[in-house]
Amino acid sequence: MVPKRLIPLVVAAIVAAIVLIGLGFAHLAVFRHWLAVHTGTVNEPGPYYGFWSGFGSDLTEFGVIGVIATGVYQLVRKFNCHEPGCWRVGTHPAAGGQFLLCYRHHPDFAGKKPTSEMIHRLHEQNRSLQVALNTHLEDIHRRVEELHEHLGAQPPGTPTSGSPGSDP
Ligand SMILES: [Zn+2]
Repeated sequence: MVPKRLIPLVVAAIVAAIVLIGLGFAHLAVFRHWLAVHTGTVNEPGPYYGFWSGFGSDLTEFGVIGVIATGVYQLVRKFNCHEPGCWRVGTHPAAGGQFLLCYRHHPDFAGKKPTSEMIHRLHEQNRSLQVALNTHLEDIHRRVEELHEHLGAQPPGTPTSGSPGSDP
């Protein structure tokens, strides 16, 4: 069976095929003649002969070159620095990974290649930031738990000064 998400595609293909067949029958003679002339299959020494035996025979090669060029271009777009107009390979993430930048355009590197000293400094900065964030999160977590305990131990309407377990 056809997967559910492909059904609209299949329906569209069938409709397109029906329309094409309909058009084909309506204009069959005209279309076939047009196709034959323009692909150079009839009237061989006709107006297109020179084209199809000369420049026209190279069209497929231009197509192949075009496909390769497009592929290379897409690859370059994927991996090059996101700074407009920069063609270096972008390997350094910035803004939490939204951008890949070359060393020259990454804000942390100030236009210079990262030195050993810079790597250590940035590593330490990053680590202390992580530690600070973790401490802060743990603090929030502890406070939330305290709040839950406080609310759980105190049924609504009970005065705060009452000692627990004083029932007769
Ligand atoms: Zn760059």
